[in-house]
Amino acid sequence: MKTAIITGITGQDGAYLAELLLKKNYKVIGITRNNHVSNLEKLAYLGIGDKVKMVECDMMDMSSVINIINTFRPDEVYNLAAQSSVGLSFNQPIGTIQYNIISVLNLLEALRLIKNDTRFYQASSSEMYGTVKSLPVTTDTPMHPLSPYAISKASAYWTVVNYRESYGLYACNGVLFNHESFLRSESFFVKKVVGEAVKNRNNPDWILKVGNIDVKRDFGYSPKYVEAMWLMLQQDHPKDFMICSGKSYLLRDLIDHVFKQLNIPAEKLIVSQELYRPTDILDIYGDNSSAMSALGWNYDYNFYDVLDILISEELKANEKINKG
Ligand code: NAP
Repeated sequence: MKTAIITGITGQDGAYLAELLLKKNYKVIGITRNNHVSNLEKLAYLGIGDKVKMVECDMMDMSSVINIINTFRPDEVYNLAAQSSVGLSFNQPIGTIQYNIISVLNLLEALRLIKNDTRFYQASSSEMYGTVKSLPVTTDTPMHPLSPYAISKASAYWTVVNYRESYGLYACNGVLFNHESFLRSESFFVKKVVGEAVKNRNNPDWILKVGNIDVKRDFGYSPKYVEAMWLMLQQDHPKDFMICSGKSYLLRDLIDHVFKQLNIPAEKLIVSQELYRPTDILDIYGDNSSAMSALGWNYDYNFYDVLDILISEELKANEKINKG
């Protein structure tokens, strides 16, 4: 039985990855900064709350990280913990940059010193590329990060490459584009739109207030993207991969689809300049051909179909709450 450590297990991807690894008969150790009932909700939703071993660890503290690696001697480490919001990173630039870089360095150092045959996955982000001169984005596209979050992820990315090249660690970056699910945190665009629309579809006083929706993004489905994370750690040699749908969708069109599915009139949508970001990317989509051919990863979801899955899951959850 293999042992995997997942940091950020209480988040969206952590929960789906834990579910996948449990199905593959792994022993799953989940790292959390603070073990409390409410942040176990995503694991509970998938019915796996009691199947993973939760351990508290401050990933900024090197000795705590060493202790975790030494105790569990993992075969694989999936590093998903991060301050993951671009918007929040403009309000908390120092905290975001410190955490998202130092936690990665602590993990890689601990592996280098204690168990250098552990396979390491780093949750990198398409946000690192920011303004790009040509599309689709590939791993050869030059990086031009546009937010403190993107800067932190770019630095972590190069740290992983450096530990692979300098010390021969099996360490790789999964460069993931936006991916969504029912378990996405409320503050993210798609979850916010679907969640609020379902909850308030019959509320005459409700309006949906959004920022710039005339931008396009490459959106995918989280339960499928975690399969690529696992595949990346099962290869003969470590390599970085783009994980994306390969298509971009206009945010305005996504809202339009959700409103139509729920019979919500278009006037309920208000675009507010106050919610615009200081810098934003107009259009971005990636090239997933390498992940498909080298990893054998398969992704053929249209994001409008994913939206329908999310709407249906949200309606069910809402009905449950209303029934008490
Ligand atoms: P998420 O739902 O926001 O989960 C983030 C996880 O990190 C949570 O377990 C959270 O713990 C933990 N965390 C956040 N800030 C922390 C801090 N300062 N100290 C310790 N732990 C902290 O994120 P996700 O969507 O699952 O994404 C997983 C990873 O992929 C992240 O690194 C994210 O940046 C990256 N990524 C995500 C996307 C996407 O579209 N979802 C795209 C590209 C890359 P708590 O429960 O305690 O808050």
